[in-house]
Amino acid sequence: MSARIIDGKAIAATIKARVAEEVAGMKARGRSPCLAAILIGDDPAAASYARSQEKHAGEVGIDYRLIRLPASATQADAAEAIRRLGADAGVSGIMLHMPVPRSMDGFALQQLIDPAKDVEGVGATNLGLLAMDRDALAPCTAAAAMECLRSVLPDLKGRDAVVVGRSVIVGKPLAMLLLAANATVTQCHTRTRQLPDHTRSAEVLMVAAGVAGLIGPEHVAPGTVVVDVGTHRVTLIDAAGREVSRTVGDVRFDEVGHLASAISPVPGGVGPVTVAKLLENTLKACRRQVG
Ligand code: NAD
Repeated sequence: MSARIIDGKAIAATIKARVAEEVAGMKARGRSPCLAAILIGDDPAAASYARSQEKHAGEVGIDYRLIRLPASATQADAAEAIRRLGADAGVSGIMLHMPVPRSMDGFALQQLIDPAKDVEGVGATNLGLLAMDRDALAPCTAAAAMECLRSVLPDLKGRDAVVVGRSVIVGKPLAMLLLAANATVTQCHTRTRQLPDHTRSAEVLMVAAGVAGLIGPEHVAPGTVVVDVGTHRVTLIDAAGREVSRTVGDVRFDEVGHLASAISPVPGGVGPVTVAKLLENTLKACRRQVG
């Protein structure tokens, strides 16, 4: 392993310290930023993410309100909860935990979030603003991947960047953020032919494919900066033949580390920075609402 390891926890700590300082200043002026999260049903991963959000929000002084709806709630119930939070002047940011129960349309619900409070950047308005190079509440994971990249490569002007993945919430906004930073961007997806030919041409390789271990040494040219957005819980067999549960990324970290000039690990890379970007967006939304 010769690559520099991108330390997501350290990056997140720096962002959170900055947010905490500004939140303290706002509170001294009588305004408390508040993040409201809606959790519908009993998805254990979503519930665990909500607990983690509450802890991180508390650490920077942001109030956290969790609105829980039962799995039996209707689309209209959820829509009403979102509307109520939109009209509540004490709420700076709103996010809807996904997945929602199968009886509901999560996309439609996300589009009901007031764009000024859409701190996950999942609504058409914020994505549209991002595409138009306007100040937007950018999707947190894409913004976090950019923070990780910039921690080792601050100037992206003219850099050849390849994004693997084109989802609306990660791949597309990531490509837009890279373009806004003046990188030359290639976007790959499931129908891309000869993926390694594209990824090997990259100086910057951003991977958000959602396929564990997709990217190996055959995809990476020496000196590439690799940022891995993927996160998967997998069961492996250890050296002693025991089953062990591990979190891994889309990149085979151990096989690529000797080629990359810098690489983000999973866990400990983009993940912690994503939560920090959510808090930063909540502060930004609050700042704008205060005027
Ligand atoms: P998604 O499934 O919605 O999209 C995956 C994209 O990758 C698709 O556009 C698809 O075309 C492309 N793709 C899939 N297989 C491919 C292949 N073999 N070759 C080329 N392209 C391929 O996933 P998503 O929501 O964008 O998430 C991507 C990954 O990021 C997932 O592992 C997810 O768990 C992770 N994620 C992490 C965070 C975080 O905070 N770290 C947040 C959100 C998502």
